[in-house]
Amino acid sequence: MRKKIVAGNWKMNTTLPNGLSLASEILKNTDLPKDVVLIIAPPFTHLSDVSKLIKGSNIKLAAQNCAQFDQGAYTGEIAASILKSVGTEYVILGHSERRAYFAETDAVINTKIKLTLANQLKPIVCCGEVLEEREKNIHFDIVAKQLKGMFDGITPNQFSDIIIAYEPVWAIGTGKTASPAQAQEMHAFIRINIEKAYGTELAHNIPILYGGSCKPSNAKELFVNADVDGGLIGGASLVAKDFIDIAKSF
Ligand code: PEP
Repeated sequence: MRKKIVAGNWKMNTTLPNGLSLASEILKNTDLPKDVVLIIAPPFTHLSDVSKLIKGSNIKLAAQNCAQFDQGAYTGEIAASILKSVGTEYVILGHSERRAYFAETDAVINTKIKLTLANQLKPIVCCGEVLEEREKNIHFDIVAKQLKGMFDGITPNQFSDIIIAYEPVWAIGTGKTASPAQAQEMHAFIRINIEKAYGTELAHNIPILYGGSCKPSNAKELFVNADVDGGLIGGASLVAKDFIDIAKSF
């Protein structure tokens, strides 16, 4: 059985006190199915405190990014090893906002994936096409190219720690969700791509999350699809009840 995962990307939201109270609210969930993994990704500055707060609970901690360098003179950057040292378990990589605003390429993301894995962190690797690419009907080619570039040189052994998030960029923060059929179609395509590169077992086991305006009202119809193993949630993860309701939608 593949893991069911709901991960909340808080992005650049919440002050530290607000973030701690959001995490505390989420912690109050007691009746989540045991097979659902709940992950929260607060801003870097909150990680250490949130890590202490959620210790021993069923909530796991993610960072939203990490540096493409191991350590040293890179002012303002946070290395994977630093994230690991404050209790982080997962790192979101290749988010479309990192690609669009910080010029991250598949090659940069590939370096970051290798650094997170080398530091025993699990990458949540994002892919997805922009609207123009979907309209031109080249979205499968785009996603295949992203996967190829991001996973270049990743061994099957390393691959078992990876989670993929399919996030059509046109659906992120827009209120416009991919239809369940569009999500399933792309998730199945991604799984077939992984199967070709890494074999049936790894392809079968890798969780593939959907991201893009997922909310309590549409989570069920997305998660019910055979290849949709959960969600990467932006806006709705900032409201504890919505986030929990999404996690109850399997
Ligand atoms: C995201 O940024 O990963 C995301 C899915 O955002 P939203 O849920 O707000 O569309």
